[in-house]
This record gives sequence, C-alpha cells and structure tokens, in this order.
Amino acid sequence: MYKVLIVKLTNIDKNVINEIVNHLSNLGFHVDVLGEINHINITYFDWERSQFKAEKILEFISNKFKNFPYDSIIAIGEIDAYANGLNFVFGLSTKKFGTVYLSRLKNEFYRKECDIQLFINRAKKEVTHELGHTLGLSHCSNPNCVMNFSNSVQDVDKKSAYFCEECRLKLNINNKR
Ligand SMILES: [Zn+2]
Ligand SMILES: [Zn+2]
Repeated sequence: MYKVLIVKLTNIDKNVINEIVNHLSNLGFHVDVLGEINHINITYFDWERSQFKAEKILEFISNKFKNFPYDSIIAIGEIDAYANGLNFVFGLSTKKFGTVYLSRLKNEFYRKECDIQLFINRAKKEVTHELGHTLGLSHCSNPNCVMNFSNSVQDVDKKSAYFCEECRLKLNINNKR
C-alpha cells in the first residue's frame, strides 16, 4: 500500500482536507496529514504577476521532506501559482513530491457564486491527479480518467476523481517493484 503525506502550505478548511483524505483512502492509499502549516517563503512570490512560483515551492517541499518515509508527499495551498512558460498551474509534481494550488478551483476566482461541494470535488481530483504524477503516472488520454490533463476548471469538472483501469494497473505494477 502506498503511503501518502498531505502537507498544508496555508490554512485549509478542515472539511476540505477530510474529504480529500477520505477519497484517497477509498482509492486504497494510506494517508497521513501533517498537523502544522508549512508557510511558504515570501521570496517565492512574484510581485509582478501576483502569483507564487510553483517550481520554488516544489523545490522547498522536496528538500524539506526528502527523508520522510512516504511514497508521496503532497503540499496543498490556497494560493495561485505559475510555472515556467504557463499562465498558471493547478499543481506541479515530480517523482515523490507534489504540489496543488487551490485558488483557481474556486468559483469565486471567476466571479461566480461560491459552491463548496464543487470546490471540494475539484480539489479531490487535482490532489489525486498530482498524486498519480508523484507515483510515476503521466497524463492519460481517457477523458474520464483523473490523469487526463486539465487546462481549466471546465476540464476538471468533466473528468472523474478516479484512475482509469489502465492507470490503476500501472500503479499496481509500480507498487510491486
Ligand atoms: Zn498533470
Ligand atoms: Zn488513465
């Protein structure tokens, strides 16, 4: 069984974290949540763009938690971030370490009415997606698979929160190595 650690970069609503943990547990992962918040260094903020630099945050998390005995460590924050060459990212990951940025998963970001359940569903999908990357999965062409690439919240809403059979198989194979 894969061991996953969730790390908070900002304060995040308890219900949101609980629903993410329940979802990942249902998928068969062992999930722990680190109690304290790991605040992001202000030098990772790009004042011209008003966004955080995702690569910097990923590097910070990778260094800080490199000796932690988990298969995957996912840092989540209610912030907006971008990566080199992209206007924004919902998340950024390498092997073992992942980050998820929640600001753009909220309807309020697009001046639409707040919808907490929709926000939670989107957060569950994006955390599961980045978790897949940390365990070696690439993007999947199955439009229903959680590993399908999302360029907008509309894309996120279209896919499911689950791995397709092919991706599940790959996870199982990796797990047995
Ligand atoms: Zn991806
Ligand atoms: Zn898939």
